[in-house]
Amino acid sequence: MKIAIIGAGFGGMAAAFDLRKAGHNITIFESADYVGGLASGFKEPNWDWSVEKFYHHWFQSDKSMLGLIRDLGWEDQVIFPRPYTVLLYNGKWYPFDSILKALLFPGLGFGLDKIRFGLVGLYLRLTNDWKSLEKYTANEWMRKWAGSAVYEKMWEPLLIGKFGPYYKDVNMAWMWARLKARTTRLGTFEGGFQRFADKFAERLRAMGVEIRMETRVKFIKRGPDKGLLVAAGQVESFDKVLVTTSPNLMAKMCPDLPEDYLQGLLDLKSMGAVVMVLSLKRQLSEQGYYWFNLPKEEGYPFLALVEHTNFVPAKNFGGDHIVYAGDYLENDHEYFAMSDDELLERFTPAFKKFNPAFSQDWVNKIWVFKTNYAQPVPLVNHSRNIPSIETPIDGLYFASMSQVYPWDRGTNFAVEIGRRAASLMSK
Ligand SMILES: Cc1cc2nc3c(=O)[nH]c(=O)nc-3n(C[C@H](O)[C@H](O)[C@H](O)COP(=O)(O)OP(=O)(O)OC[C@H]3O[C@@H](n4cnc5c(N)ncnc54)[C@H](O)[C@@H]3O)c2cc1C
Repeated sequence: MKIAIIGAGFGGMAAAFDLRKAGHNITIFESADYVGGLASGFKEPNWDWSVEKFYHHWFQSDKSMLGLIRDLGWEDQVIFPRPYTVLLYNGKWYPFDSILKALLFPGLGFGLDKIRFGLVGLYLRLTNDWKSLEKYTANEWMRKWAGSAVYEKMWEPLLIGKFGPYYKDVNMAWMWARLKARTTRLGTFEGGFQRFADKFAERLRAMGVEIRMETRVKFIKRGPDKGLLVAAGQVESFDKVLVTTSPNLMAKMCPDLPEDYLQGLLDLKSMGAVVMVLSLKRQLSEQGYYWFNLPKEEGYPFLALVEHTNFVPAKNFGGDHIVYAGDYLENDHEYFAMSDDELLERFTPAFKKFNPAFSQDWVNKIWVFKTNYAQPVPLVNHSRNIPSIETPIDGLYFASMSQVYPWDRGTNFAVEIGRRAASLMSK
């Protein structure tokens, strides 16, 4: 079969790998001039490794991602350091990345709250019944079972940070998935995610996959007889097409989709993200902390402060210290319209809270990345809202971040859904 894949992110490339191995003729269309999509990175001339535009790591439980890497024969190039994630309490940072560390966290007191926190955590790790959990909002379920004190200290700040105005609407299956599919060891590819994406694209090309870079698909329509027409400069006919973009772009690209499927795509909610990457002359967190969870009510101008070079060494970046400051935001948030310098002015005063010695002259250079599609918002009974991979148009398939539910978005699940789509398309 002659197959088109729209998007050279992790999902599109994973699908291409399996479809090509099954003997099909594959063309990937990618609008950007780089592969890797949301997980792509960039590199300065003096860096050996690339830095992801949006902070990225893998979990040891990322079976699909690690399985693909094994299939490619590159498992010796994956590393799993154990960086520190910390949480604020009474002006001090406490390690907080395992049930044990959480139980030692003073913010939970020492009585019933801690027991409830432990029992709820254990239950969520053990149960697989996410279908029952999705009937409730995380806000109501957690208040009932973990108690309001624990919820407000531990979980509510996370929900507010990630989902802003929707935080009370997010279902409990999302929270379950976060606790279920995460580990304390965090992984990356030697050289960074972009190195992995570039090597993967190289392998695909060597297998005979054509990747057309800087080629934006404008529309996909039914052909006059069999097949689908893909318009990207010229119009070309394919037997099958897989789209891996956001639901919004899918709806624009495929106006022939029936009304209810189109409406389903447009009804899906998501948050955008604004992330600043800073190259600093000095280490910001001298304690070596990697990930700072920041409660919004403490007045920080961003949700997460991530010191990448407390995860992988600064020597990979010519001695530069790499820090991210990022937030999940609605698409009309002022940060989307602000210039890089305005954002720098807004963000850096807070850096003194991580290191009082910080001063503006530590900053070598900054980069700002913005996306309006960063985090799908799962509402109550969300499984009913997930568009099927097989669309109502014969031969047209759709596999995106918004369909990996009940799991939260991630490269692991992009690979999983890409490979699932490939297996459906091979039938
Ligand atoms: C802030 C942030 C932090 C994250 N952290 C992590 C993390 O720590 N770990 C992790 O595993 N994942 C993380 N993720 C999620 C991860 O990046 C995504 O789940 C994954 O990259 C999605 O892959 P995809 O192939 O489904 O989509 P995408 O990466 O979005 O790929 C879609 C591709 O389609 C292309 N495209 C769009 N329109 C067209 C068109 N008309 N024609 C041709 N091409 C087109 C795009 O350029 C893009 O390359 C994070 C995401 C964000 C935003």
